[in-house]
Amino acid sequence: MRQSQLFTKTQKNAPKDEMSVNAQFLIRGGFINKELAGVYSFLPLGFRVMKKIEQVIREEMDAIGGQEIFMPSLQPKDNWEKTGRWSAMDDLYKLKDAGNREFALGPTHEEIVVPLVKKHIQSHKDIPFAVYQIQNKFRMELRAKSGLLRGREFLMKDLYSFHANEKDLDAYYEKAKTAYWKIFERAGLKEKTYFTFASGGTFSRYSHEFQTLSEAGEDTIYICEKCKNAVNKEIKHETPKCPVCGENKFKEEKAIEVGNIFKLMDKFAKPFDLKVTDSDGREKNLIMGCYGIGLSRLAGTIVEVHHDEKGIVWPESVAPFKVHLIEVKSQKSKVKSEAEKLYEGLLNNGIEVLYDDRDESSAGEKFADADLIGIPWRVVVSEKSVAAGGAEIKKRSENKKEIIAINKLVDYLSKK
Ligand code: ATP
Ligand code: MG
Repeated sequence: MRQSQLFTKTQKNAPKDEMSVNAQFLIRGGFINKELAGVYSFLPLGFRVMKKIEQVIREEMDAIGGQEIFMPSLQPKDNWEKTGRWSAMDDLYKLKDAGNREFALGPTHEEIVVPLVKKHIQSHKDIPFAVYQIQNKFRMELRAKSGLLRGREFLMKDLYSFHANEKDLDAYYEKAKTAYWKIFERAGLKEKTYFTFASGGTFSRYSHEFQTLSEAGEDTIYICEKCKNAVNKEIKHETPKCPVCGENKFKEEKAIEVGNIFKLMDKFAKPFDLKVTDSDGREKNLIMGCYGIGLSRLAGTIVEVHHDEKGIVWPESVAPFKVHLIEVKSQKSKVKSEAEKLYEGLLNNGIEVLYDDRDESSAGEKFADADLIGIPWRVVVSEKSVAAGGAEIKKRSENKKEIIAINKLVDYLSKK
Protein backbone atom coordinates (compact mmCIF):
# COMPACT_ATOMS: atom_id res chain seq x y z
CA MET A 1 0.00 0.00 0.00
CA ARG A 2 1.11 3.53 -0.74
CA GLN A 3 1.40 5.60 2.40
CA SER A 4 0.34 8.68 0.42
CA GLN A 5 -3.06 7.03 0.13
CA LEU A 6 -3.37 5.87 3.72
CA PHE A 7 -6.12 8.06 5.14
CA THR A 8 -4.77 7.93 8.69
CA LYS A 9 -1.94 10.17 9.83
CA THR A 10 0.53 9.65 12.62
CA GLN A 11 0.49 12.01 15.59
CA LYS A 12 3.55 13.44 17.34
CA ASN A 13 1.99 13.54 20.77
CA ALA A 14 0.02 11.02 22.71
CA PRO A 15 -3.57 11.89 23.64
CA LYS A 16 -3.66 13.27 27.17
CA ASP A 17 -6.41 10.95 28.39
CA GLU A 18 -4.55 7.76 27.46
CA MET A 19 -2.09 6.60 30.09
CA SER A 20 -1.19 3.16 28.76
CA VAL A 21 1.75 2.56 26.45
CA ASN A 22 -0.33 0.41 24.10
CA ALA A 23 -3.02 3.05 23.57
CA GLN A 24 -0.48 5.85 23.21
CA PHE A 25 1.53 4.13 20.48
CA LEU A 26 -1.47 2.59 18.74
CA ILE A 27 -3.29 5.93 18.59
CA ARG A 28 -0.19 7.90 17.61
CA GLY A 29 0.61 5.37 14.89
CA GLY A 30 -2.92 5.50 13.48
CA PHE A 31 -3.81 1.91 14.35
CA ILE A 32 -6.87 2.65 16.46
CA ASN A 33 -9.20 5.52 17.29
CA LYS A 34 -10.80 5.98 20.68
CA GLU A 35 -14.56 6.42 20.49
CA LEU A 36 -15.21 6.35 24.22
CA ALA A 37 -13.41 4.84 27.20
CA GLY A 38 -12.88 1.17 26.40
CA VAL A 39 -14.28 1.39 22.86
CA TYR A 40 -12.00 1.70 19.85
CA SER A 41 -12.26 1.69 16.07
CA PHE A 42 -9.65 -0.28 14.20
CA LEU A 43 -8.08 1.69 11.34
CA PRO A 44 -6.33 0.16 8.31
CA LEU A 45 -3.04 -0.57 10.08
CA GLY A 46 -4.72 -1.77 13.27
CA PHE A 47 -7.23 -3.87 11.42
CA ARG A 48 -4.46 -5.60 9.52
CA VAL A 49 -2.83 -6.50 12.84
CA MET A 50 -6.13 -7.86 14.16
CA LYS A 51 -6.60 -9.96 11.01
CA LYS A 52 -3.11 -11.41 11.45
CA ILE A 53 -3.79 -12.30 15.07
CA GLU A 54 -7.15 -13.72 14.09
CA GLN A 55 -5.50 -15.93 11.49
CA VAL A 56 -2.92 -17.29 13.94
CA ILE A 57 -5.68 -18.14 16.40
CA ARG A 58 -7.96 -19.59 13.72
CA GLU A 59 -5.23 -21.91 12.45
CA GLU A 60 -4.50 -23.22 15.93
CA MET A 61 -8.18 -23.69 16.77
CA ASP A 62 -8.80 -25.50 13.47
CA ALA A 63 -5.79 -27.70 14.23
CA ILE A 64 -7.51 -29.02 17.38
CA GLY A 65 -10.72 -29.68 15.51
CA GLY A 66 -12.53 -26.44 16.38
CA GLN A 67 -15.47 -25.73 14.06
CA GLU A 68 -15.84 -22.00 13.44
CA ILE A 69 -19.26 -20.42 13.89
CA PHE A 70 -20.54 -16.90 14.50
CA MET A 71 -23.10 -16.13 17.18
CA PRO A 72 -25.03 -12.93 17.86
CA SER A 73 -24.25 -10.15 20.30
CA LEU A 74 -27.93 -9.45 20.88
CA GLN A 75 -29.15 -12.22 23.17
CA PRO A 76 -32.54 -13.04 24.68
CA LYS A 77 -33.06 -12.29 28.37
CA ASP A 78 -34.74 -15.69 28.87
CA ASN A 79 -31.50 -17.57 28.29
CA TRP A 80 -29.70 -15.40 30.81
CA GLU A 81 -32.42 -15.94 33.38
CA LYS A 82 -32.17 -19.70 32.93
CA THR A 83 -28.56 -19.68 34.06
CA GLY A 84 -29.17 -17.08 36.77
CA ARG A 85 -26.67 -14.72 35.22
CA TRP A 86 -29.22 -11.98 34.25
CA SER A 87 -29.06 -10.78 37.84
CA ALA A 88 -25.77 -12.34 38.98
CA MET A 89 -23.43 -10.82 36.43
CA ASP A 90 -22.49 -7.24 37.35
CA ASP A 91 -20.86 -6.40 34.07
CA LEU A 92 -23.77 -7.43 31.81
CA TYR A 93 -25.05 -4.76 29.41
CA LYS A 94 -28.83 -4.95 29.32
CA LEU A 95 -31.08 -3.16 26.91
CA LYS A 96 -34.76 -2.74 26.10
CA ASP A 97 -36.32 -2.25 22.70
CA ALA A 98 -39.36 -0.13 21.84
CA GLY A 99 -41.63 -3.09 22.55
CA ASN A 100 -40.14 -3.40 26.05
CA ARG A 101 -38.40 -6.66 25.20
CA GLU A 102 -35.15 -7.09 27.08
CA PHE A 103 -31.82 -8.30 25.79
CA ALA A 104 -28.28 -8.82 26.92
CA LEU A 105 -25.29 -7.75 24.85
CA GLY A 106 -23.18 -10.90 25.00
CA PRO A 107 -20.21 -10.75 27.40
CA THR A 108 -19.64 -14.48 26.65
CA HIS A 109 -21.70 -17.08 24.79
CA GLU A 110 -22.58 -20.10 26.93
CA GLU A 111 -26.20 -18.87 26.98
CA ILE A 112 -26.36 -19.09 23.19
CA VAL A 113 -24.08 -22.00 22.38
CA VAL A 114 -25.61 -24.52 24.79
CA PRO A 115 -29.25 -24.25 23.57
CA LEU A 116 -27.92 -24.13 20.02
CA VAL A 117 -25.93 -27.35 20.44
CA LYS A 118 -28.91 -29.00 22.11
CA LYS A 119 -30.87 -28.74 18.84
CA HIS A 120 -28.25 -30.75 16.98
CA ILE A 121 -26.99 -33.36 19.40
CA GLN A 122 -28.91 -36.54 20.01
CA SER A 123 -26.64 -39.36 20.94
CA HIS A 124 -23.26 -40.05 22.44
CA LYS A 125 -22.08 -40.67 18.89
CA ASP A 126 -22.36 -36.93 18.21
CA ILE A 127 -19.73 -36.06 20.79
CA PRO A 128 -17.04 -34.97 21.44
CA PHE A 129 -16.73 -31.82 19.38
CA ALA A 130 -15.77 -28.18 19.80
CA VAL A 131 -17.02 -24.94 18.30
CA TYR A 132 -15.46 -21.51 18.38
CA GLN A 133 -16.00 -18.01 17.19
CA ILE A 134 -14.10 -14.76 16.91
CA GLN A 135 -16.58 -12.10 17.90
CA ASN A 136 -17.11 -8.88 19.80
CA LYS A 137 -17.95 -9.06 23.48
CA PHE A 138 -19.52 -6.39 25.66
CA ARG A 139 -18.73 -5.92 29.33
CA MET A 140 -19.54 -3.04 31.62
CA GLU A 141 -15.97 -2.61 32.80
CA LEU A 142 -15.75 0.10 35.43
CA ARG A 143 -12.09 0.79 34.88
CA ALA A 144 -11.49 1.00 31.16
CA LYS A 145 -8.27 2.96 31.09
CA SER A 146 -5.69 0.51 29.84
CA GLY A 147 -6.25 0.95 26.12
CA LEU A 148 -6.84 -2.36 24.37
CA LEU A 149 -6.11 -4.31 27.53
CA ARG A 150 -9.55 -3.67 28.98
CA GLY A 151 -12.34 -2.81 26.58
CA ARG A 152 -16.05 -2.40 27.10
CA GLU A 153 -16.44 -3.75 23.60
CA PHE A 154 -13.59 -6.05 22.62
CA LEU A 155 -12.75 -8.93 20.32
CA MET A 156 -12.53 -12.41 21.81
CA LYS A 157 -12.04 -15.93 20.55
CA ASP A 158 -14.23 -18.27 22.56
CA LEU A 159 -14.06 -22.02 22.08
CA TYR A 160 -16.50 -24.43 23.73
CA SER A 161 -15.94 -28.17 23.89
CA PHE A 162 -18.56 -30.85 24.62
CA HIS A 163 -17.83 -34.24 26.16
CA ALA A 164 -19.46 -37.34 27.56
CA ASN A 165 -17.08 -37.75 30.47
CA GLU A 166 -14.32 -36.09 32.42
CA LYS A 167 -11.57 -38.19 30.93
CA ASP A 168 -12.47 -36.99 27.48
CA LEU A 169 -12.71 -33.38 28.67
CA ASP A 170 -9.31 -33.68 30.37
CA ALA A 171 -7.71 -34.98 27.19
CA TYR A 172 -9.16 -32.14 25.12
CA TYR A 173 -8.18 -29.59 27.74
CA GLU A 174 -4.55 -30.67 27.34
CA LYS A 175 -4.82 -30.30 23.58
CA ALA A 176 -6.27 -26.81 23.97
CA LYS A 177 -3.42 -25.90 26.30
CA THR A 178 -0.89 -26.93 23.67
CA ALA A 179 -2.75 -24.89 21.04
CA TYR A 180 -2.65 -21.88 23.36
CA TRP A 181 1.11 -22.18 23.77
CA LYS A 182 1.47 -22.26 19.99
CA ILE A 183 -0.61 -19.10 19.70
CA PHE A 184 1.46 -17.23 22.27
CA GLU A 185 4.65 -18.44 20.66
CA ARG A 186 3.52 -17.25 17.24
CA ALA A 187 2.43 -13.91 18.73
CA GLY A 188 5.89 -13.35 20.21
CA LEU A 189 4.72 -13.67 23.82
CA LYS A 190 5.69 -17.18 24.86
CA GLU A 191 8.86 -16.27 26.72
CA LYS A 192 7.03 -13.89 29.01
CA THR A 193 3.89 -15.95 29.45
CA TYR A 194 3.20 -18.19 32.44
CA PHE A 195 0.64 -20.92 32.94
CA THR A 196 -1.21 -19.74 36.03
CA PHE A 197 -3.59 -21.43 38.43
CA ALA A 198 -6.59 -19.23 39.19
CA SER A 199 -9.93 -19.63 40.88
CA GLY A 200 -12.07 -22.19 39.14
CA GLY A 201 -15.43 -20.78 39.92
CA THR A 202 -17.54 -23.84 39.33
CA PHE A 203 -16.79 -27.48 40.06
CA SER A 204 -13.18 -27.88 39.20
CA ARG A 205 -10.75 -26.50 41.71
CA TYR A 206 -8.88 -24.21 39.36
CA SER A 207 -9.21 -22.44 36.09
CA HIS A 208 -6.04 -21.72 34.21
CA GLU A 209 -4.83 -18.43 32.91
CA PHE A 210 -2.04 -17.52 30.54
CA GLN A 211 -0.38 -14.49 32.12
CA THR A 212 2.14 -12.34 30.28
CA LEU A 213 4.60 -10.40 32.42
CA SER A 214 4.16 -6.65 32.09
CA GLU A 215 4.12 -3.62 34.34
CA ALA A 216 0.86 -2.70 32.60
CA GLY A 217 -0.81 -5.83 33.96
CA GLU A 218 -3.64 -5.63 36.46
CA ASP A 219 -2.94 -9.08 37.87
CA THR A 220 -0.31 -10.19 40.33
CA ILE A 221 1.05 -13.68 39.93
CA TYR A 222 3.48 -15.81 41.89
CA ILE A 223 5.85 -17.80 39.71
CA CYS A 224 7.16 -21.01 41.21
CA GLU A 225 10.95 -20.81 41.27
CA LYS A 226 11.25 -24.50 40.60
CA CYS A 227 8.76 -25.45 37.88
CA LYS A 228 7.84 -21.97 36.52
CA ASN A 229 4.11 -22.51 36.77
CA ALA A 230 2.34 -19.67 38.55
CA VAL A 231 -0.50 -18.97 40.95
CA ASN A 232 -2.77 -15.93 40.74
CA LYS A 233 -2.74 -13.69 43.81
CA GLU A 234 -6.52 -14.10 44.14
CA ILE A 235 -6.06 -17.74 45.29
CA LYS A 236 -2.54 -17.56 46.69
CA HIS A 237 -3.66 -17.76 50.34
CA GLU A 238 -5.48 -21.05 49.61
CA THR A 239 -2.54 -22.37 47.64
CA PRO A 240 0.59 -21.71 49.69
CA LYS A 241 2.53 -24.37 47.78
CA CYS A 242 2.93 -24.74 44.04
CA PRO A 243 0.02 -26.90 42.82
CA VAL A 244 2.30 -28.56 40.26
CA CYS A 245 5.53 -29.38 42.13
CA GLY A 246 4.83 -28.55 45.78
CA GLU A 247 7.65 -25.99 46.06
CA ASN A 248 6.94 -22.92 48.19
CA LYS A 249 9.36 -20.35 46.77
CA PHE A 250 7.74 -17.87 44.43
CA LYS A 251 8.59 -14.69 42.63
CA GLU A 252 5.91 -12.00 42.57
CA GLU A 253 5.26 -10.33 39.20
CA LYS A 254 2.69 -8.11 37.52
CA ALA A 255 1.04 -9.68 34.50
CA ILE A 256 -1.69 -9.38 31.88
CA GLU A 257 -4.19 -12.24 31.60
CA VAL A 258 -4.12 -12.98 27.87
CA GLY A 259 -6.07 -16.21 27.97
CA ASN A 260 -8.25 -18.21 30.32
CA ILE A 261 -9.41 -21.82 30.12
CA PHE A 262 -12.05 -23.47 32.31
CA LYS A 263 -13.57 -26.85 32.87
CA LEU A 264 -17.21 -25.87 33.11
CA MET A 265 -18.34 -29.44 33.78
CA ASP A 266 -22.18 -29.49 33.59
CA LYS A 267 -22.73 -25.95 34.89
CA PHE A 268 -24.42 -24.84 31.64
CA ALA A 269 -25.66 -28.21 30.40
CA LYS A 270 -27.86 -28.45 33.49
CA PRO A 271 -29.99 -25.30 33.15
CA PHE A 272 -30.56 -26.02 29.46
CA ASP A 273 -31.00 -29.73 30.03
CA LEU A 274 -28.34 -30.64 27.49
CA LYS A 275 -28.22 -34.43 27.60
CA VAL A 276 -27.32 -37.35 25.42
CA THR A 277 -28.22 -40.98 25.54
CA ASP A 278 -25.18 -42.94 26.58
CA SER A 279 -24.12 -46.28 25.07
CA ASP A 280 -25.93 -48.06 27.92
CA GLY A 281 -29.17 -46.23 27.07
CA ARG A 282 -29.11 -43.81 30.01
CA GLU A 283 -29.45 -40.05 29.67
CA LYS A 284 -26.55 -37.96 30.92
CA ASN A 285 -25.67 -34.28 31.05
CA LEU A 286 -22.87 -33.27 28.74
CA ILE A 287 -19.84 -31.66 30.27
CA MET A 288 -18.03 -28.72 28.78
CA GLY A 289 -14.81 -26.81 28.63
CA CYS A 290 -14.48 -23.19 27.58
CA TYR A 291 -11.39 -21.45 26.32
CA GLY A 292 -11.05 -17.68 25.79
CA ILE A 293 -8.45 -15.36 24.34
CA GLY A 294 -8.98 -11.63 23.96
CA LEU A 295 -7.62 -10.69 20.52
CA SER A 296 -7.64 -6.97 21.18
CA ARG A 297 -6.05 -7.54 24.60
CA LEU A 298 -3.45 -9.71 22.86
CA ALA A 299 -2.68 -6.89 20.41
CA GLY A 300 -2.33 -4.46 23.33
CA THR A 301 -0.12 -6.91 25.20
CA ILE A 302 2.16 -7.35 22.19
CA VAL A 303 2.67 -3.57 22.13
CA GLU A 304 3.30 -3.47 25.89
CA VAL A 305 5.96 -6.18 25.52
CA HIS A 306 7.45 -5.21 22.15
CA HIS A 307 8.24 -1.50 22.01
CA ASP A 308 11.06 0.94 22.64
CA GLU A 309 11.02 4.69 23.28
CA LYS A 310 10.37 5.43 19.60
CA GLY A 311 7.44 3.13 19.00
CA ILE A 312 6.21 -0.37 18.40
CA VAL A 313 8.44 -3.31 17.36
CA TRP A 314 5.94 -5.79 15.88
CA PRO A 315 6.84 -9.47 15.71
CA GLU A 316 6.63 -10.34 12.03
CA SER A 317 3.72 -12.77 12.49
CA VAL A 318 1.32 -9.99 13.46
CA ALA A 319 2.88 -6.92 11.85
CA PRO A 320 0.58 -4.91 9.56
CA PHE A 321 3.15 -5.24 6.76
CA LYS A 322 6.44 -7.07 6.46
CA VAL A 323 8.36 -4.25 4.80
CA HIS A 324 8.28 -0.48 5.17
CA LEU A 325 9.79 0.91 1.99
CA ILE A 326 10.88 4.53 2.29
CA GLU A 327 11.71 6.77 -0.60
CA VAL A 328 13.82 9.70 0.55
CA LYS A 329 12.90 12.67 -1.62
CA SER A 330 15.61 13.65 -4.04
CA GLN A 331 16.19 15.91 -7.07
CA LYS A 332 17.47 12.86 -8.91
CA SER A 333 14.70 11.01 -10.69
CA LYS A 334 16.65 7.76 -10.31
CA VAL A 335 15.73 7.56 -6.60
CA LYS A 336 12.01 7.67 -7.33
CA SER A 337 12.24 5.21 -10.21
CA GLU A 338 14.31 2.74 -8.18
CA ALA A 339 11.90 2.94 -5.25
CA GLU A 340 8.92 2.43 -7.56
CA LYS A 341 10.62 -0.52 -9.21
CA LEU A 342 11.31 -2.10 -5.85
CA TYR A 343 7.73 -1.50 -4.71
CA GLU A 344 6.39 -3.26 -7.79
CA GLY A 345 8.84 -6.11 -7.30
CA LEU A 346 7.79 -6.66 -3.71
CA LEU A 347 4.09 -6.54 -4.61
CA ASN A 348 4.54 -8.95 -7.49
CA ASN A 349 6.23 -11.41 -5.16
CA GLY A 350 3.51 -11.26 -2.57
CA ILE A 351 5.59 -9.43 0.03
CA GLU A 352 3.41 -7.13 2.10
CA VAL A 353 4.78 -3.63 1.85
CA LEU A 354 3.87 -0.17 3.04
CA TYR A 355 5.51 2.25 0.63
CA ASP A 356 6.23 5.70 2.01
CA ASP A 357 6.02 7.58 -1.27
CA ARG A 358 4.85 10.85 0.31
CA ASP A 359 6.34 13.88 -1.37
CA GLU A 360 5.68 16.36 1.40
CA SER A 361 7.49 14.50 4.21
CA SER A 362 11.15 14.84 5.09
CA ALA A 363 13.46 11.86 5.59
CA GLY A 364 13.42 12.53 9.34
CA GLU A 365 9.64 12.46 9.48
CA LYS A 366 9.52 9.26 7.49
CA PHE A 367 12.06 7.53 9.72
CA ALA A 368 10.23 8.64 12.86
CA ASP A 369 6.96 7.30 11.44
CA ALA A 370 8.61 4.01 10.53
CA ASP A 371 9.92 3.61 14.09
CA LEU A 372 6.51 4.48 15.53
CA ILE A 373 4.55 2.12 13.26
CA GLY A 374 7.06 -0.66 13.88
CA ILE A 375 7.07 -2.72 10.68
CA PRO A 376 9.84 -5.38 10.95
CA TRP A 377 11.95 -4.46 7.88
CA ARG A 378 12.80 -0.90 6.89
CA VAL A 379 14.11 -0.45 3.37
CA VAL A 380 15.33 3.02 2.39
CA VAL A 381 15.97 4.20 -1.14
CA SER A 382 17.86 7.50 -1.14
CA GLU A 383 20.53 9.31 -3.15
CA LYS A 384 23.06 7.94 -0.70
CA SER A 385 21.86 4.35 -0.90
CA VAL A 386 21.65 4.42 -4.69
CA ALA A 387 25.17 5.81 -4.88
CA ALA A 388 26.30 2.99 -2.58
CA GLY A 389 24.76 0.46 -4.95
CA GLY A 390 21.21 -0.21 -3.79
CA ALA A 391 18.83 0.23 -0.88
CA GLU A 392 19.59 0.37 2.80
CA ILE A 393 17.94 -2.37 4.80
CA LYS A 394 17.48 -2.43 8.58
CA LYS A 395 15.40 -4.45 11.00
CA ARG A 396 13.19 -2.46 13.37
CA SER A 397 14.56 -4.53 16.23
CA GLU A 398 18.23 -4.00 15.38
CA ASN A 399 20.59 -1.11 14.66
CA LYS A 400 22.63 -2.80 11.94
CA LYS A 401 22.17 -1.31 8.45
CA GLU A 402 23.18 -2.94 5.19
CA ILE A 403 23.18 -1.94 1.53
CA ILE A 404 21.72 -4.53 -0.81
CA ALA A 405 21.42 -4.22 -4.59
CA ILE A 406 17.84 -3.31 -5.57
CA ASN A 407 17.56 -6.29 -7.91
CA LYS A 408 18.55 -8.67 -5.10
CA LEU A 409 16.24 -7.28 -2.45
CA VAL A 410 13.05 -9.08 -3.35
CA ASP A 411 14.84 -12.38 -3.26
CA TYR A 412 16.57 -11.46 0.01
CA LEU A 413 13.30 -10.50 1.73
CA SER A 414 11.41 -13.52 0.32
CA LYS A 415 13.82 -15.74 2.20
CA LYS A 416 13.45 -13.89 5.50
P1 ATP B 1 -10.32 -10.09 33.60
O1 ATP B 1 -10.08 -10.82 34.90
O2 ATP B 1 -9.09 -9.44 33.05
O3 ATP B 1 -11.50 -9.21 33.63
P2 ATP B 1 -11.89 -12.28 32.74
O4 ATP B 1 -11.51 -13.33 33.69
O5 ATP B 1 -13.13 -11.51 32.93
O6 ATP B 1 -10.67 -11.23 32.55
P3 ATP B 1 -12.66 -14.14 30.67
O7 ATP B 1 -14.09 -13.96 30.94
O8 ATP B 1 -12.02 -15.41 31.04
O9 ATP B 1 -11.84 -12.89 31.27
O10 ATP B 1 -12.39 -13.83 29.13
C1 ATP B 1 -11.47 -14.54 28.33
C2 ATP B 1 -10.39 -13.62 27.80
O11 ATP B 1 -10.94 -12.44 27.22
C3 ATP B 1 -9.45 -13.08 28.86
O12 ATP B 1 -8.44 -14.01 29.14
C4 ATP B 1 -8.90 -11.84 28.19
O13 ATP B 1 -7.88 -12.19 27.27
C5 ATP B 1 -10.08 -11.34 27.41
N1 ATP B 1 -10.81 -10.27 28.10
C6 ATP B 1 -11.62 -10.35 29.17
N2 ATP B 1 -12.13 -9.16 29.51
C7 ATP B 1 -11.61 -8.27 28.59
C8 ATP B 1 -11.77 -6.87 28.39
N3 ATP B 1 -12.55 -6.15 29.16
N4 ATP B 1 -11.11 -6.31 27.36
C9 ATP B 1 -10.32 -7.04 26.55
N5 ATP B 1 -10.13 -8.36 26.69
C10 ATP B 1 -10.77 -8.98 27.70
MG1 MG C 1 -13.52 -9.62 33.63
